[in-house]
Amino acid sequence: MVEKRDYYEVLGVEKDASDGDLKKAFRSLARKHHPDKNPDDSEAEHLFKEVQEAYAVLSNPDQRRQYDMFGHDSPGGSPFGPGGFQGVNINLDDLFGGGGFESIFSGMFGGGRASRGRRGSDVLLRQPITLEEVFTEAEIEVSAKLSASCESCNGTGAKSPDDIQTCSTCEGQGRIVQQARVGPFVQQMVSDCPDCNGQGKAIRNRCSLCRGTGSTKREQKLRIQIPTGAEDGLRLRHRGKGEHIVNGQAGDLYIQFEVTPHAWFERDGPDLIMALPLGYPEMMLGTKVELPHIDGNPLVIDVPAGAKPSETLLIRGRGMPYRRGRGRGDVTVLLKLHVPEKFDKTMVSTLEEMLPSFGLPIEDVEDAVRREAEDRRN
Ligand SMILES: [Zn+2]
Ligand SMILES: [Zn+2]
Repeated sequence: MVEKRDYYEVLGVEKDASDGDLKKAFRSLARKHHPDKNPDDSEAEHLFKEVQEAYAVLSNPDQRRQYDMFGHDSPGGSPFGPGGFQGVNINLDDLFGGGGFESIFSGMFGGGRASRGRRGSDVLLRQPITLEEVFTEAEIEVSAKLSASCESCNGTGAKSPDDIQTCSTCEGQGRIVQQARVGPFVQQMVSDCPDCNGQGKAIRNRCSLCRGTGSTKREQKLRIQIPTGAEDGLRLRHRGKGEHIVNGQAGDLYIQFEVTPHAWFERDGPDLIMALPLGYPEMMLGTKVELPHIDGNPLVIDVPAGAKPSETLLIRGRGMPYRRGRGRGDVTVLLKLHVPEKFDKTMVSTLEEMLPSFGLPIEDVEDAVRREAEDRRN
């Protein structure tokens, strides 16, 4: 599958691009790749659609926020529905001058919604955890400033209940009808009223604590049980703990675990991998090494006599718990030859004494190289 490009990259703008920057970038790219200018060019067609999709999302503040947080991997799936973005026809003329293309995009997310239900944004919280915490499936306390219903106005956003009135723009309907040109057609599009965000209500005097947003951020504590075998990037959802909004459903909070690197283990799912440096005598004679381990019991590595560098030892059942099901993965230990940084006189003379019995007989070097190759190929 082709990796989906980052929307900012598609439009060639910075992450903090203003609405004006986005519009300018979109206009120029859409003109460049427009099908009228590139007939029967499937590459241009693809780019035209890609630019439209990027602009549709980034020009919508809610969608942009969602995208900045989750990227293409939004928990609710594609904002365009299960089929993804389908592309729209934009008249080439509309890409010059005033900008007749905007209404096409502004109606894209608000208008098609089946229900009136407005919903707050989802919030992503990254939570670092250690490998040991994953192993013990620890219950951890996460504390963060999270959005909650305003305690002064009970989430209505109004100073007093009398301040909630019928929106005059949409006459309480919550929706307005707009006309947009889509190719040669004039299309009627119904979208949420921009003045009341589809609620049909207007607030005369806003609540001073939340400035009419209906929510305030408060330090909140959540107790979370780390799921069995949790891996880096795993997300847990807490319904209704995301952004609170006036007259709408609160978004969800996602807690994403980020497993901090272990001092010596690399992790491959349930398996752990590490390297053990050993001196030449330990390789030759064999040895037993003990290390503190994530399960609280020492990890005993039994190195047999005559071990070779780059060989691996497998210790079964001492890895991480399987994500689903019972049991634990394995620990793989890669043997490495430890060579001292400096040699003093005593070490040199010891090594020289070893040379006749352990060194490579220099007159047989060709034979030794040949045998090594044979072993390696078998
Ligand atoms: Zn309030
Ligand atoms: Zn309205």
